[in-house]
Amino acid sequence: MTTVNPSVDALLADIPALAPYARKATLLRPRTGRPTALDSHVGGPLLWPAEEEWPVCRGPHLIEVREKLSEQEREAWQRTDRAMRDRRAGRPNSAYELTHEEAALQSRIMDGAGALDMRTWERIRRVPVPADPGVPMVAVLQLRAQDAPTLDWPEGMDVLQVLWCPQEHSELPGQAHYWGPAVEMRHRPAALTGPLAEPPAPPADAVARYVPRPCLLDPVEVTDLPDQDELPDELVAEAEAWAEDRDAEYHRVLSCQEGWKAGGWPSWHLTDLMRIDCPACGARSRLHLTFDSGHDPDLNVGRFGELRVFTCPVDATHPLRLNIQ
Ligand SMILES: [Zn+2]
Ligand SMILES: [Zn+2]
Repeated sequence: MTTVNPSVDALLADIPALAPYARKATLLRPRTGRPTALDSHVGGPLLWPAEEEWPVCRGPHLIEVREKLSEQEREAWQRTDRAMRDRRAGRPNSAYELTHEEAALQSRIMDGAGALDMRTWERIRRVPVPADPGVPMVAVLQLRAQDAPTLDWPEGMDVLQVLWCPQEHSELPGQAHYWGPAVEMRHRPAALTGPLAEPPAPPADAVARYVPRPCLLDPVEVTDLPDQDELPDELVAEAEAWAEDRDAEYHRVLSCQEGWKAGGWPSWHLTDLMRIDCPACGARSRLHLTFDSGHDPDLNVGRFGELRVFTCPVDATHPLRLNIQ
């Protein structure tokens, strides 16, 4: 079977009302390799001013703490589970349901912990712990302007670097409902930096799925279109019908294109559209970068999701916003 992959350009030619929504984007297409500090790449060495200190994160980090249930707690838990199963055995099509008393008992046993390991009978709690003296961040991405000309580059800057702290953070300042690495983005002029011989090694207790495998990039410029949630209903119907006629999908094929990406549009496949605003000026933030799970860099953010960095279209110095889905 051949896959029909009609181009976004053909769609735009047929439905010109979509044109105002089209954005240029660069699919970064990371492939395992041995990058140097001079390349655009994932992981690996960076261009770095000799006098600039490597960034560290002081947390707090969410560290997993396990607490053994007491004998009485374990027995009580198992009693409620047995009772629930016995009740259901008489009514095979009904759901497993706890009585109010049983639910209250289990909630007392959990004592606010997030999960219970039923093999070891341990409560699992994530506790915020400050990192002193701080954890070195890891280099995630270096982009040179010539490899991602579709991005907005601040005056005089032609290198963009993303570093993040490979630990769990929750509700970082200005990042409501976010759980994941703490991200920093730096722009700099390549001419004023030299290669950094040896970036610090990732911390020993780094969350392994947040440390990317070094990759080279094979960037390709595309035109991207928005998620259905960001379009008027009539246009969605037209675009979807157009795609269907060509055995294609609008979502994630013609729009919100997948993979590591600079610019373009975010997909809202887990939640409905979330408006993400600049915390400094209230302007609607724009998708700047997408870090995808799996493939060669072998990250896993969220549950095999995408970490997206949004920036302010009015002022590049305003704080970035993070979102995973
Ligand atoms: Zn951190
Ligand atoms: Zn702003």
